[in-house]
Amino acid sequence: MDTTTTTPLHQLRDGTTLPAVGFGTYPLRGEDGIRAMVSAIEVGYRLLDTAVNYENEQEVGEAIRRSGLPREQLQVQSKIPGRDHAYDRAVASVEGSLRRLGLEQLDVGLIHWPNPSVGRYVEAWRALVDLRERGLVRSIGVSNFTERHLQDAIDATGQTPAVNQVEVHPWFPQVELRAVHERLGILTQSWSPLGKRNAPFAEPAVTEAAAAHGVSPAQVVVRWHVQLGALPLPKSANRERQQSNLDVFGFALTEAEVAAITALGRADGRLFDGDPDTHEEM
Ligand code: NAP
Repeated sequence: MDTTTTTPLHQLRDGTTLPAVGFGTYPLRGEDGIRAMVSAIEVGYRLLDTAVNYENEQEVGEAIRRSGLPREQLQVQSKIPGRDHAYDRAVASVEGSLRRLGLEQLDVGLIHWPNPSVGRYVEAWRALVDLRERGLVRSIGVSNFTERHLQDAIDATGQTPAVNQVEVHPWFPQVELRAVHERLGILTQSWSPLGKRNAPFAEPAVTEAAAAHGVSPAQVVVRWHVQLGALPLPKSANRERQQSNLDVFGFALTEAEVAAITALGRADGRLFDGDPDTHEEM
């Protein structure tokens, strides 16, 4: 089934839109990676999430070309790595992403991690603001920013990120940060939305909802994100799983089902020790 016609859109604060579910491309690489990405596009994904550090931007660009879809029907987002937060390096990072992707514009440009000990995420944010001005990036946002990092970026520039891509899954539902996003008008994107290797597919809150709606546990989890108002980026190398992860617009969880899944959240529910105040990625 081509689910594109039924995938709703999020409106960003800058007036542009993103599809309600996107495709995570890490760690898809090489010819197999290209094939998996082409498959994802064929089954209906219209937003591909990559990063300089995934070392697969060339593959993403190739998949877009092989898909045969017009450029304007697909959206690509990439991320500036921690080693490139200095203003000129951030600019060069985005220019490098565009070169590897073979594109003229990034649909969404993000800062991958705040790396607070480096202390230059505001500089990288200024670079994104200017890159948008130059037309090299359409929408600008961040990833793994806490409320404080968001506020620093906003205070320094008067510009609020359109997106913050953070760890969200049933073990770590990010209730407080999502409320901050709502207050500031920032779209939450969910990384590791299924919980990756620790997916909660056997939890009664998930299996009971799956049975009630005649869908898989993974579909319940993707749908949970959608109903939270977040944009999940599930990754799968397998066409059937790609397809079913996107096929979540023909049913709705009850409020009680959503609440029961959110209640799986734990203070230590992160998949690894990825607290952005202490975890750094260069
Ligand atoms: P995920 O999407 O939660 O989980 C992916 C894993 O689940 C893969 O092993 C996949 O295996 C499996 N899977 C997918 N669909 C399934 C299904 N229907 N049933 C059972 N298993 C299924 O985790 P992720 O890959 O860590 O995160 C997704 C994306 O988020 C990444 O690709 C990346 O784009 C982004 N990300 C961003 C950050 C950041 O710092 N900004 C950090 C991590 C991830 P198969 O491939 O075999 O299906």
